[in-house]
Amino acid sequence: MIDKQLSFGDTSNAFSGKSANELRKMNFLFTLMGVPELAKVGIFLIKTLLKLNFPIKKIVKITLFKQFCGGESLEECMIIINKLSKGGIKSILDYSVEGDSEEKDFVQNAEIIERTIALGAKDKAIGFAVFKITSIGSAALLEKIQNAAALSERESMAFERIQYRIHHLCEMAFNLDVKILIDAEESWIQNTIDDLILQMMRKFNEKKAVVYTTMQLYKKASLHNLQHLKELSKIEAFQLAVKLVRGAYMEKERERAKLLSYPSPIHNDKEATDMAFNEALEFCVKNNISVCAGSHNEKSNLFLTYLMKENNIPASSDMIYFAQLYGMSDHISFNLAKAGYNVSKYLPFGPVRSVMPYLFRRAEENKSITGEMGRELRLIREELKRRMI
Ligand SMILES: Cc1cc2nc3c(=O)[nH]c(=O)nc-3n(C[C@H](O)[C@H](O)[C@H](O)COP(=O)(O)OP(=O)(O)OC[C@H]3O[C@@H](n4cnc5c(N)ncnc54)[C@H](O)[C@@H]3O)c2cc1C
Repeated sequence: MIDKQLSFGDTSNAFSGKSANELRKMNFLFTLMGVPELAKVGIFLIKTLLKLNFPIKKIVKITLFKQFCGGESLEECMIIINKLSKGGIKSILDYSVEGDSEEKDFVQNAEIIERTIALGAKDKAIGFAVFKITSIGSAALLEKIQNAAALSERESMAFERIQYRIHHLCEMAFNLDVKILIDAEESWIQNTIDDLILQMMRKFNEKKAVVYTTMQLYKKASLHNLQHLKELSKIEAFQLAVKLVRGAYMEKERERAKLLSYPSPIHNDKEATDMAFNEALEFCVKNNISVCAGSHNEKSNLFLTYLMKENNIPASSDMIYFAQLYGMSDHISFNLAKAGYNVSKYLPFGPVRSVMPYLFRRAEENKSITGEMGRELRLIREELKRRMI
């Protein structure tokens, strides 16, 4: 049962907001990223130059940053938010700073996330709020808690402050009626994160989905965990809400498992991850779970539209959201939105230096020209050709 109004091949709609000049710049960037050796050397070079405090911010800002981020501040993002909104797509303002370890940074980051929640309540062009727990608390501390290690008094107090911040952000989202996603991170801190989010879902999802946890389907245990969470939500009477993703830390996860000689938590191959992801979609649709599907995979996105039709769920249902990252897979986002589905795009923002880990992950993801992401380049070229004709 295919949605006849939906075609991911409509490049004129996908790139309607981009000028020919912007498309040419994208073509250039994706071509460079598509050569794995070049991407590798490029990432290494940028990392080294940044460490040496070389003034390369300007170059990064007009290339990678411009492609994948909304701006350095909330205000700078408004242009993109309005552009996406014209295409029926909502923005998810993602303050993408990573790697902070100081208390003053956590406090400052939480304040900026608060501003994104407040904006979400005011501006209909904002779909969800979002945050990473490691932007408001120490990853090392989360890991200690996961390992049930003894905490010093200072650490116990720091953990209380993390819990307070999470509660405060979720409570604010609840009071302002803004849905809030909490990202999933590395497996060695994720159990702690899962426990913290579960407490928030119990408290704020009593009547409807406000707090969304994230499940990474590249993990062998995720399907089982999803089923377990559903059981729990039934018994405890809260609305289960999940963002489903495949997972962004595969290399890191495998390397660490090898180094520390424990079995990798990640599926052995891509097919197993793909199957688990689609099974999770089906489980959510059939079990009344609020879902946000974060994926650039055409088949998974199509499969979700198929599941919705099969289960008589209207395209605009509040139970199901599609989400992609800004700068990627516009052909999926814009064409889903045109067919009436709820579509949002993560719009990362923050100081150039602090969003570099996010940008490196995107460059890594796009470096295989032969893989799913090589498609990006093909579509940009198709649209350029179409405009020339
Ligand atoms: C809106 C949104 C929010 C996101 N939030 C998060 C988040 O909170 N946490 C997070 O970790 N990621 C997050 N991601 C990133 C996501 O996990 C993926 O890295 C990215 O979207 C690529 O997967 P895909 O489904 O788009 O497409 P595809 O290109 O079909 O899948 C690529 C993914 O498949 C998996 N994979 C690839 N090769 C193998 C292999 N050999 N064996 C096993 N698995 C393999 C990996 O997960 C890889 O990233 C988010 C993505 C989006 C769009």
